Amino acid sequence: LAAKAWDARFEPAQTRDGVRVEVAANLGNTAHAGDAVSRGAEGVGLLRTEFLFMSHADMPDVETQEQEYRVALDALDGRPLVARTLDVGGDKPLAYWPLPQEDNPFLGLRGIRLALTRPQVLRDQFTALIRAANGRPLRIMLPMVKDVAEFRAAKAIFDEVAEEQGKVLDGDTLQLGVMIEIPSSALLAGTLAPDVDFFSIGTNDLTQYTLAIDRGHPELSAQSDGLHPAVLRLIELTVNAAHAHGKWVGVCGELASDRLALPVLLGLGVDELSVSARQVPMVKERMRGFDMQQAREQARQALEQPTAEAVRDMLESLS
Ligand code: PEP
Ligand code: MG
Repeated sequence: LAAKAWDARFEPAQTRDGVRVEVAANLGNTAHAGDAVSRGAEGVGLLRTEFLFMSHADMPDVETQEQEYRVALDALDGRPLVARTLDVGGDKPLAYWPLPQEDNPFLGLRGIRLALTRPQVLRDQFTALIRAANGRPLRIMLPMVKDVAEFRAAKAIFDEVAEEQGKVLDGDTLQLGVMIEIPSSALLAGTLAPDVDFFSIGTNDLTQYTLAIDRGHPELSAQSDGLHPAVLRLIELTVNAAHAHGKWVGVCGELASDRLALPVLLGLGVDELSVSARQVPMVKERMRGFDMQQAREQARQALEQPTAEAVRDMLESLS
């Protein structure tokens, strides 16, 4: 029995009626990719590359980055790596990239808007990632994109690098997508979807910006709930826009490992969930217990609730 339970980790997550959801791992350190695989992760769904940058005293050069990304890609052994480009600013400082004092850093220079002020940083990161992958499955994603203009500005840099490296976005082995973590990009997902290869929904920031609650606020954090129906409606818009254009959608925020949220995300049509490595077996196991009709019904009911609390009560009564 123990051997059987162990094997189940490496089986895909499939609902009772045969719908596959990819379950991947969030990673801050490329050295942990092997551990994620051993727990059954089907890939890395979010590599937070800022930790790599924070562990150096100066901006790491292309060779240094390439070596570190290769560690993850080698451990993944052909499974996809979704690598997020440098996401600093806001609550994530980088000692050697001093930022101006801002009254509201969460609403200031951070994510892709900061990266675009120093295009060479993005160039080097794209170069290092493409070289490290060397034809293995690589999905690069841009953080904190608010609209298609920002995506295109970053993609122009990407396209130059890809050409230099003799690679093309083929919609398969090499993909370029965006995180959906600002309400504007969820509302405008239909205008982003034709241009991108995929979306990954960052529910931590999406919840923060939708509910206007600081994600780390000591007193308000309990109210900062990704199951709020306003957040769920933004997820619904995102998934529908992506699928209308044949693109896949993941969720890589905390909500992806919330026990009650799982049937809702499934019912909304999410294709991939990326969670901390130790949550991978639980998420896979739970997915195997659902069927789509039941999940769609739970999603439909959740969207109709007025508050996060009502959503949780409703889902708890069903589980
Ligand atoms: C998110 O915002 O949900 C996310 C996954 O990114 P991070 O938590 O790194 O900001
Ligand atoms: Mg985020």
